Amino acid sequence: MIFDKHYRILVVDDAKDSQMLLSFDLQAAGCDVISAGSGEIALSILDSTDIDLIILDMHMPGLSGLATLARLKNNVHWQMIPVIMLSSSDAEEGVVSSLELGADDYVIKPYIRKVLFARMRTALRLREKTKILEDLAKIDFLTGINNRACFDEQTSSAVSQAQRTEQPLVIAMLDIDFFKVVNDDYGHDIGDKILIAFAKRLTECFRNYDIVARIGGEEFAVCLPHTSIDDAFNACERFRASIEYMRIPLNNGSKKEVGITVSIGVSSSSSVSLDMACLLKQADIGLYHAKAHGRNQVVNADELLDNDIVTLGDRSEYTAEEKQFIQEKESLNSNALSIVFAIEGIDVKLGMSNVLDDEKLYKDILKMFYQDHHHDASKLSCAIKCNDFQASKHLAHTLKGVACSVGAMPLFEAAKLLDTAINEQQFDSFKQLLQGVVAELEIVMCDINEELIVSAA
Ligand code: GH3
Ligand code: MG
Ligand code: MG
Repeated sequence: MIFDKHYRILVVDDAKDSQMLLSFDLQAAGCDVISAGSGEIALSILDSTDIDLIILDMHMPGLSGLATLARLKNNVHWQMIPVIMLSSSDAEEGVVSSLELGADDYVIKPYIRKVLFARMRTALRLREKTKILEDLAKIDFLTGINNRACFDEQTSSAVSQAQRTEQPLVIAMLDIDFFKVVNDDYGHDIGDKILIAFAKRLTECFRNYDIVARIGGEEFAVCLPHTSIDDAFNACERFRASIEYMRIPLNNGSKKEVGITVSIGVSSSSSVSLDMACLLKQADIGLYHAKAHGRNQVVNADELLDNDIVTLGDRSEYTAEEKQFIQEKESLNSNALSIVFAIEGIDVKLGMSNVLDDEKLYKDILKMFYQDHHHDASKLSCAIKCNDFQASKHLAHTLKGVACSVGAMPLFEAAKLLDTAINEQQFDSFKQLLQGVVAELEIVMCDINEELIVSAA
């Protein structure tokens, strides 16, 4: 099988023959194909259909390929769909502009089926890995529920929607009572186990479309769209009672179990101006009120009198423990970032930044780069010796592109010079420029082999 799934591909080309050829090849490779004869039609198809990858012709009447690409990349729903540009011209400006606008790759017409498929596979694989990374970035690593960033993103769009539809919305802030004591008495592992059980119960007790998240150490939040303050209060009260009865076994041979309680503050969009920050702050005031008045209770912040609020002070300061926790996490993160490996001829930092600093993904890409291109020196020499203009042009052009994306800048410069010389047919300089590419390839490939392939074997 050429692709590992039945991908749905949108082919955008004004030339009917080109459209048909692509459809034929892609369907034979197991893809679902939808064709559009113009950029305008493509955008309207995207409005109603999920697409995995777009093959976009550069030169079309009406909305050009570049203009269509710009529209795609400016739309939050479409910008992550991989786009491969297709054009009969490899004029440098076109290639650069499309890559700068966010195209994943560029293929010259008439295309070589195998090359097009290989580039599609790379773009789809990269998109899938990016999606995994994006999802991971939204998840709290301990409990598996949404983290703060995800909560803010989803809640802010729920708040805007509530505003548009004039629907009520409630935010609840939750904080486990005396959690420090639980950690001190039973250890951090039991503390973690409690946080996991707490998060699980949170997702079970609230509705599927409520947004639940862990927003800090032992602090959680819930956004309840389409909910009145009374219904939200009751839901939180049920959850509070269920936590009061929850027991976590210690698992140390004894039959001992631990129980916790939770304090909750709720605030509704009808009480404060519909601004997410105000709602969170107001719910937080309710939470502090609950803490100050005996804990293990739900407080409706909407009902608090101004005097109640003034005496509670500002919660924007972290406690000493929270400060320490944050510092520990920060130093862990900075350590993780500083473990960067070195490869001669490659700006690893630059290459890593192209894949959102995912070291594992970047190493996989470097290994693929090695596998696909470590014979390029002999392939290029052979193509140039045999005066195979098309092959030399293709090899130099591709090498230039990939060298740039992995951060192999000296190789990129050398391949660029050779690519330009081939395009301008400066036959006299081929030999010397080829030597430059061969030398850079040798440096980079040797070191990737030593660092990532031999050392891993
Ligand atoms: P209060 O009732 O006033 O909320 O008291 P508290 O002890 O719960 O609050 P405080 O903010 O003083 O302590 C929070 C504790 O939560 C301290 C910190 O060690 C613990 N904590 C934060 N994150 C984690 C975590 O990921 N795992 C574990 N086990 N404990 C955590
Ligand atoms: Mg607490
Ligand atoms: Mg706390």
